[in-house]
Amino acid sequence: MPDVASGSTFLRGLPAGSLGCMTRPAPEVYDRLRALVAIPEFRADPSSRESAVLNEVFTGEPLAEIPVGTAADVETAVERARAAQVAWAERSAKDRAAVLSRFATQVMRGREELMDIVQAETGKNRASAQEEVLDCLITGRHYAGTAPGLLAPKRVQGMLPGLTKAVVRRHPKGVVGVIAPWNYPLNLAATDALAALAAGNAVVIKPASITPFCALAAAEMLYRAGLPRDLFQVVPGPGGAVGGAIVDNVDYLMFTGSTETGRTLGRRCGERLIGFSAELGGKNAMIVTDGADLDEVAEVATRAFFSNSGQLCISMERVYVEKSVASQLIETLTARIGAMSLGPSYDFDAEMGSLISQDQLDTVTAHVDDAVAKGARVLAGGRPRPDLGPLFYEPTLLADVPEDATCFGEETFGPVVSIYPVDSVDEAVEKANDTEYGLNSSVFAGSDAEGEAIAARLRTGTVNVGEGYVAGWGSIAGPMGGMGASGVGRRHGEEGLLKYTEAQTVATQRVMHFGGPSFLSRDRWQSVLAPATDAMRFLPGR
Ligand code: NAP
Repeated sequence: MPDVASGSTFLRGLPAGSLGCMTRPAPEVYDRLRALVAIPEFRADPSSRESAVLNEVFTGEPLAEIPVGTAADVETAVERARAAQVAWAERSAKDRAAVLSRFATQVMRGREELMDIVQAETGKNRASAQEEVLDCLITGRHYAGTAPGLLAPKRVQGMLPGLTKAVVRRHPKGVVGVIAPWNYPLNLAATDALAALAAGNAVVIKPASITPFCALAAAEMLYRAGLPRDLFQVVPGPGGAVGGAIVDNVDYLMFTGSTETGRTLGRRCGERLIGFSAELGGKNAMIVTDGADLDEVAEVATRAFFSNSGQLCISMERVYVEKSVASQLIETLTARIGAMSLGPSYDFDAEMGSLISQDQLDTVTAHVDDAVAKGARVLAGGRPRPDLGPLFYEPTLLADVPEDATCFGEETFGPVVSIYPVDSVDEAVEKANDTEYGLNSSVFAGSDAEGEAIAARLRTGTVNVGEGYVAGWGSIAGPMGGMGASGVGRRHGEEGLLKYTEAQTVATQRVMHFGGPSFLSRDRWQSVLAPATDAMRFLPGR
């Protein structure tokens, strides 16, 4: 592919003009978006309702107009959801799971259109959009298969073996609120909701203000899969008004977004004494030991660092490499990153797309400029690329980043990675753990056993050995989430479903009550009870 990057010596921009309509969404996408934003629940008073025009990210040209919701819309949505949830909870778990299966089928069939919508509203490359679609698919399939078993009543050991029968039942919370971010607007709108719905809840969701269309598209697919409309309602609108009303009205909150907002919402949920789960920011580290296959590291790195242009909570922003192989890795990485294709494309040609907003471009530019001003060296990238689109920035690798640079410890949430040579694995582990965050990490070592031993020493909710993030995220049967300032609670796996339930232990006492049989006097019963109590220390632990 020819190098059209104006002034760039190494980064390949996609060839202008050669992609035809692939640089823009297909014309049908605009019609689809117009249909999606006709939210029936919003029809009551269209004349007085505010609306916002959102732009297609690659070009900055208008994409569609979206009605803006209010706190009153949330209250109405929650009321309707609450009424519908009763009948939904009475349906069998298998019946509810069947809706998730059909949703997965809908997603499979509609994947091209979904990827178009994801790309149009985020500006990410198609491979990153495909990850969102795949995540919806595997989560739908996973909980369709596992939810009935996880929700079935479970017999546990009773107080007195044989005399006390104890069963744990799972009841839905009621109405679950989902507040979603803009970076993965399709899967982070749909997948947490799928688990909540499978558990018998209704869901009211507030997508990020700049990415409402994916949540609306997911809703349509759920309705087509047979979900009654009131059980999954999307209320687009601002965080303060709509997000605040969600927190004030629902029975459980699932939040994905920044640590700062997570802290605020956690306090509000605490005041209301409702359950709260939060997936927040990260400053994820990759460790590379001297035995690692450096070509493999460089290949994985383009995804581990730059998927969705680095606007991925679990992407890597720090690399700690043993000194003996540092210069070789730096050379390999620099060459690989320099050969990445960057550009607007609605097909799989571009390895990296655009940033999503001017705010993101400003933050990324500021972090790189600040680091360079304080002595960092740019090994690859390091510049905005207005020649490719208004919000493009090059995939960037920095070295010699000093401790007082902003991007040394703060999350950039963009395509900026810093590499630090270290004397030993111990130093790498210590530095990787030296952060308030604890979301994800990655290890490349000489063997799986060495990588897994290092993983055990890292304080992050997921660790990917021989990978960047896909293996940990996609192993959906296991919990996923953050330690420290990266989150509270987990999504995926058993915990990701059961958190949307209230556990209830039903204990049935049979044959004899704790007060003793009626034919024994109280004194007599005590004389029986004393040795029995003493004997309890011989019972096996339970
Ligand atoms: P954000 O500003 O916290 O926004 C996230 C969501 O919260 C948006 O829908 C936003 O609405 C809403 N919101 C903002 N203020 C609110 C308030 N006071 N009350 C209720 N809702 C409010 O985060 P972001 O900038 O969109 O997302 C980037 C951050 O999310 C990064 O730090 C990233 O690491 C993190 N993230 C974490 C994960 C994970 O799984 N751990 C996944 C993705 C992203 P508006 O859009 O209207 O502001």
